Amino acid sequence: MPEGPEIRRAADRIERAVVGRIATEVRFSFPHLKRYEKHLRGQRVTAVETRGKAMLVRFEGGLCVYAHSQLYGRWYVVSKGKLPRTNRSLRFEIHNPHKSALLYSASEIDVLAAARVARHPFLSKLGPDVLAKGLEEDAILERVTDPRFARRQLHALLLDQGFVAGLGNYLRSEILFVAGLHPTWRAGELSDTDARMLAHCILRVARQAYRTGGITNDPERAKALKAEGMRRAQYRHHVFTRDGRACWTCDAEVRREVLGGRKIFHCPRCQPAPKRPLSSRIEKAAIPSRGPANR
Ligand SMILES: [Zn+2]
Repeated sequence: MPEGPEIRRAADRIERAVVGRIATEVRFSFPHLKRYEKHLRGQRVTAVETRGKAMLVRFEGGLCVYAHSQLYGRWYVVSKGKLPRTNRSLRFEIHNPHKSALLYSASEIDVLAAARVARHPFLSKLGPDVLAKGLEEDAILERVTDPRFARRQLHALLLDQGFVAGLGNYLRSEILFVAGLHPTWRAGELSDTDARMLAHCILRVARQAYRTGGITNDPERAKALKAEGMRRAQYRHHVFTRDGRACWTCDAEVRREVLGGRKIFHCPRCQPAPKRPLSSRIEKAAIPSRGPANR
């Protein structure tokens, strides 16, 4: 499934093709949306925005097309009149005299009035978009230290789109590695330094992945490994899908675990596990010895 950086890069391609231009043709495949076609036809497209894994295409008249690609949705930008070779089913089309932006296979598409965007059932629950322009580390730190999220383990929290929108499976493994944090830490257990480090790495790793087209490994190292003839899949990440191989930093063997039904990758040496279980055992053991009855 594409994550925030991939969605934003797709949005950039669509933006270059349609924003600022009149949409000479707009089509939907879902029958209940067909009535909007004649309203949108002839209108200028004003923006293509992303909210985590969802996209919003805004038209000058105030309507906005909401599209969530889910697992299989895929956008194509092609020269006008050319269709991509695919067996997927076409769901939404915007054409102008030069280019066409085509969305295939997505199951969630809706047309919203601009005023309804904030009240949309999915959009209204999202945390800040990790790639939003102007998003600052302090805003992420506020979420990390928010009591609402204190009991959540980081592996689950980073996938929660209500915490920060746009993070998915490869980003969470990579962010936790760069921050040096084991996936089972709870947000509320982090020291001030670690909470700040996590906020910093969420932004840094997501922005690097956006800039580089998904490379989260150290840029200098990735460049050197590529020059040595290594394939992209081998040098792309610090730990994601690298189980059984040596950590680039410390040489320990990268591990794969399944937590909450999803695969996560980490380095046991760079991301030591919390010592929590020991302290909770001591607490339990201490209970029966308390009080005069046990003396
Ligand atoms: Zn390591």
